[in-house]
Order: sequence, then C-alpha cells, then structure tokens
Amino acid sequence: MTTLVPSEQTRQLTELETAVTELEARTPSQFRTVWAPAAALRQRAEEVGDTEVVQRAVLLQAGVLLREGQTGEGGQLALQVKVWAEENEARYVLARAHRELAVFYRHVGDFSDALTHAVQSVAFLSDDVPAHLRARHLMTLAVSLSDTGSHADGKRRGREALALSAQAGDHEMVLAMLNNMAYSAAELGDETEARALVAQMRDVQQRNGHRFTANELDTMAQVELMSHRYAAVEELLTPVLADLVVATEGDAVAECRLTLARARRLDRRYAAAQDALDAARATCAERQLGAIGARVRQEQAALYADTGRYAEAYEEHRSFHADMTALQSVQRDARARALQAVFEANEARRASEHFREMAHRDALTGLHNRRYVNERLPALMVESAERGRPLSVAIVDLDHFKRINDTLSHATGDTVLQHVAELLEEAAPGAAIAARMGGEEFLLAFPGVDAEEAAMRCERLRLRIRAHGWEPVTGTLQVTTSIGVTTVEPGETSLSALLSTADRNLYAAKRSGRDRVVAG
Ligand code: GH3
Ligand code: MG
Ligand code: MG
Repeated sequence: MTTLVPSEQTRQLTELETAVTELEARTPSQFRTVWAPAAALRQRAEEVGDTEVVQRAVLLQAGVLLREGQTGEGGQLALQVKVWAEENEARYVLARAHRELAVFYRHVGDFSDALTHAVQSVAFLSDDVPAHLRARHLMTLAVSLSDTGSHADGKRRGREALALSAQAGDHEMVLAMLNNMAYSAAELGDETEARALVAQMRDVQQRNGHRFTANELDTMAQVELMSHRYAAVEELLTPVLADLVVATEGDAVAECRLTLARARRLDRRYAAAQDALDAARATCAERQLGAIGARVRQEQAALYADTGRYAEAYEEHRSFHADMTALQSVQRDARARALQAVFEANEARRASEHFREMAHRDALTGLHNRRYVNERLPALMVESAERGRPLSVAIVDLDHFKRINDTLSHATGDTVLQHVAELLEEAAPGAAIAARMGGEEFLLAFPGVDAEEAAMRCERLRLRIRAHGWEPVTGTLQVTTSIGVTTVEPGETSLSALLSTADRNLYAAKRSGRDRVVAG
C-alpha cells in the first residue's frame, strides 16, 4: 500500500470513484471497451486500499465475462462481489451484483434463481439512482418475469424500463427493451404485436443510426419465421454468424444458431439444419448455456422426427425433458414468486410512505407543515411528560414581510421564505422540528431542551437571520424576525395552551419593537 498525505489520498479516491462510475455507465454494446480499464482501476484501487472500488471493478469484469460467454467465471466473480456487498452493506454494489447474477442464472437455465436475483437487483436500488441505470435493472427484472411465465408483470416492468430509457435519451436501451418485448410477443405467438414492436425498433434504429445487435437480429428473424419467410431469416442472421455484429449477451450467438436451425428444418433443408444445430450445441457447451442447451435438444428431437428417425427423436425428447425437469424446480419457482410478491408489497408501501411524507411537507420550503405539527406535537408533549423531560416551542414570524412583497415582488417574498426555511432547518438539528405554519409564520419544537437553552437558541437564530447575506435577494431591505418561545410545564398537555403562550410572547416581541425574542 502506498503511503499518501491525506489530501492526496482523498483526491485519488474521488478520481477512482469517478472512473468506476463512468465504466458502469457504458452501454452493453461497449462492453469490449471495459475490461482493460476495469483491470487497471482494480489494481490502482487495491494500491490505495479502496475496497469498494476494487469490488465494483471486479463486478465490471464479471459483466464482461458473462457477455463474452465465460459464464462460469463471470458468475463466480459476481457471487464473490455479492458476498462482499452483503457483509459491508454496500447497497448499490449489492444491487449491481444481483443483476449480474440474474444474467448468470438465466444463461445456465435456472430461471427461478434468475428471478430471485433480478428482484433483489431492483429492491436494493436506492431512489437516487439515475434513470438510465434503474432502467437496466428493471429490464433484467422484466426479462426474468417473462422467462418464468409472469408475462403481464414482465410487460409492466418492461414498459417502466422503456419509459425511463426514453426519458434518459438512452436509445440503445430503448431498442433493447423493444427487442425484449418483441421477443416475448413472438414467444407467445402474437405476430401482430411482435411485428408492430419490430417496426418501432427499425424506427428507433433509423433515427439514431444505431446498429442492431445479435439479439435484436435474432428477434427479427423469429418474427420472419412466424410467417415462414425463411430466406429473410438467413439474410438477417448471416452477419451475426460471420461475426460482423456485436453480441451484447453471452447467449446471443447460440440463440441465433438455434433460430437458423429451426428455419432450415421448417424449410426442409435438413442437412443445413443439422449443421446449424451442431454449431448451436457446440456454442452452448463451450459457454455453459444450459437454457439454450435444453432447447437445442428439443430442436434435435424435432429434426429427427421430421426426417423419420423416430426412435432417436424419442430418445432426444426424453433427454430434453430430463434437462428441463432438472432446470425447473417447482420449489425454487415458488420461492422466487414469493420473493417477487414481497417485493411488490414493499414497493407499494414505499410509495404510500412517499405520499404520506409529501402530505406532511410544505411545498414552497420543504419544511414540515401545520398538519404535521398538529399530529406530532401532542405525541411529543406526552413523551416529555412521561420521561420528565422539558420540551420547548417557538413561533417565528417575519417582521414587516408585507413590505418585501409590496416593494419588491411576491416572487422575492417566496425566495426570502425559502432562505429563512434553510436557516430554520439549521437551527433544528437532530430530534428538533422546523415547520411552516402558514404565510410567514414558522414553528420550532425542541424536545429535551429547557427554557434557558431554548431562549439562547432562538436568540442565535434571530441574529443568524438578521446577519444572512440578503443583499442579492432584497437589496437594502432588512429581513428580521420576532420570536415567541415557551417551555412546557410538567403536567401541561394541551397543545392549544402551549401554542397560545408562544403566540402571546410573539405578540409581545412585535409590540416592543420587533427583531427580538420574548421567552417565558
Ligand atoms: P408583522 O411584522 O406585523 O408580522 O408584519 P407583516 O407584514 O410581516 O405581517 P402581515 O401578517 O401583515 O403580512 C403577512 C404577509 O405575508 C401578507 C401576505 O401577503 C404575505 N404572505 C403570506 N404567505 C405568503 C407566501 O407564500 N409568499 C409570499 N411572497 N408572501 C406571503
Ligand atoms: Mg409578519
Ligand atoms: Mg404573520
């Protein structure tokens, strides 16, 4: 470990953080550009001892391995990072690790575990994650839901991901999302829907000069297959198999080979179909792609049957069936579904908490509002009485506020209120509460603070507001406040009595010349 002076070390840490964030934001089609910088970053982070950046760099490498088809190695790295993130409560890293694990389990063919991880990859994302990143996690969840047969939920999550990607101007993700939706529609045999989505894909592609990826071409080929246009399938997939197209998913090439095999079989070109199928089987073995591997067996059974080799078809079908049974555990499926249900419920609760919070906030200043005070203060009074602790309350009113509105403007008045609100927040640390009661009248509540300390705090606030840099907002007009403060007597439990004492003190402060605190 290199020894650095503290400031130098801090500078390096932020630099590493910025670098890893940039790599994480790179789009799937750029995945080949990630490995080298991630490896270099990992080394530098190890040197300065920034474990979190080390783990994030390892996860980037896991993502590249999964996309290159080194499924086992990628999965192992992602698992390792997940364990670290759990132990260190690094939520963002955890969310990302779960997403890579969802990709891993999907490739090996365990759709239930893939769903479990996909759900957690969204659940561990905090609200401040940028839209384009959230969209990627939602897309993984959408795909997993469709894979496990929850098509309606998958579609809903897909639409969310699509909206977020469009909002973030992330065309590549918009296309990837339309592609997933088209693929699902084709799987469900809805040709009209699938075609409409492919038309949208072409539209996005033309407007943004994007090049289709292997997955996208495969979906388009599957749609052509639905209307028996076999030549079109060959034409779409030839560039993929000639390695002229970016495959952003580790299983894309195998998927394309399988589609080609099916098209050729249906076109009665059996020898060519067998070639494509052999190639698909080899890719699956090399890349440990269990899910597509099972479908290759299914296709092989169909090919045997179509060429009259019924005994072999039967054997192959049995193998396919055994593979599928091994991959699909009823219990795991149930567990994944239960987790999904818990997550949906949590999310609904979070949304309602958000609305409840909004209902308790003042829109202009972001402070608590009168409704909150009315609900919270009585509880605080009871608590104080029970614990024998003091509780002080102050009412803060701006002096001659009408002048600011009248002389300058209502908008300037609003700005003044916002500045004052910030100063009030500062004056109400910890358990203390700052609220806007209406107009230019505010309330402060100080649990555990006695009369003397409360008067001191109010005096400090009064001076702080007076000394604030108002010049840019109000020019030469002074902003001052009058404050009435009081402390709950033991046994006194009426909110209205408490507030009217504070109000009386405020009135006294106004009458005796404003810009002062009256306590008692
Ligand atoms: P005093 O020192 O006696 O408190 O005088 P004052 O002018 O501050 O008090 P008064 O109650 O007469 O006037 C309050 C003014 O506050 C009247 C109203 O237009 C203004 N006001 C109330 N709510 C808002 C608001 O949300 N934004 C703005 N800009 N002004 C507001
Ligand atoms: Mg006033
Ligand atoms: Mg007033």
